[in-house]
Amino acid sequence: MKYLFGPVLSRRLGLSLGVDLLPPQKVCSMDCLYCECGKTDRKYLTMERREWVPTDGVKRELEDLLRDESFYVDYVTLSGNGEPTLHTKFGEIARFVKELRPDLKVALLTNASTLHMEEVLRDLRWFDLVSPSLDAVSEEVFKRVNHPARGLTAKKVLEGLQKLKDHFGGEIWLETLFVKGVNDTPEEVEKIGEWVHRLKPDRWQLNTVVRPPAYNVRGLSEEELLDIAKRVGYPKTDIVCYNYLRLEDIKGVPSRAGEVEKRLLEMVKRRPSPLEEVKRALKLTDEGLEEVLEKLQREGKVKVETFEGKRYVVSA
Ligand code: SF4
Repeated sequence: MKYLFGPVLSRRLGLSLGVDLLPPQKVCSMDCLYCECGKTDRKYLTMERREWVPTDGVKRELEDLLRDESFYVDYVTLSGNGEPTLHTKFGEIARFVKELRPDLKVALLTNASTLHMEEVLRDLRWFDLVSPSLDAVSEEVFKRVNHPARGLTAKKVLEGLQKLKDHFGGEIWLETLFVKGVNDTPEEVEKIGEWVHRLKPDRWQLNTVVRPPAYNVRGLSEEELLDIAKRVGYPKTDIVCYNYLRLEDIKGVPSRAGEVEKRLLEMVKRRPSPLEEVKRALKLTDEGLEEVLEKLQREGKVKVETFEGKRYVVSA
């Protein structure tokens, strides 16, 4: 599969089939310090919207997988190697999924850089859930944490988030990712908190650097995030980075023996996954996981990297 990845076990979305609408070199309107897809090349740090990958190719892959009615995921999620709304047909692809499988929910993970555009807002009607990011309110901090493309400002992001709130009928889960010493100052937290109360998202999800980041930055501890959550005092707040989902709560498809390696490679294709998460998603024992990893490492297909004392499986 070229454009689809997973299903992966996502902390926030449960079992999620990823749809990547950007080419492998990553195209994004930001170059976030914490990005788990690596740095954004200057050439592809852009606000340009176009059909970055062929829509028909994406639809073909979706049809192949989703026409099997026994295939179930909690969400089909537009995310991946950059900002999905930079693809001009992202709405058409969400609509295609809804028409093919009305029983499946469709989610969009976005950095909110294009939400101020009318044509983007219109296309959101095909989504059940939009999860936009808001990492900074002041322009200076926004530039430091998100390294935006030319012309993109925090003001535009906030304008887009307000429009989303005013016009979108589905669920909104606002995500804020805190980077140590960058957007976690009391002043910035207060400004972000004001916007959270103003936007009243269905969930406000606090995250931090827990996977290998693009730049040399560190995350906050669970206590520090809890402290921020208490200071802001928004009732529908989740801390999403230190909790694992319970696999038994998810209506996933159990792995068949021969599929374990294939599914593991799919899981780590776009982002590093903690060993614990891989083990639970594939229902493996410690020994079973080590065995598969040893084989895949020998074959040069994956690597195991340690970040802040935790081991991750990374695509080689
Ligand atoms: S985290 Fe998201 S918005 Fe930021 S650079 Fe990576 S893909 Fe782009």
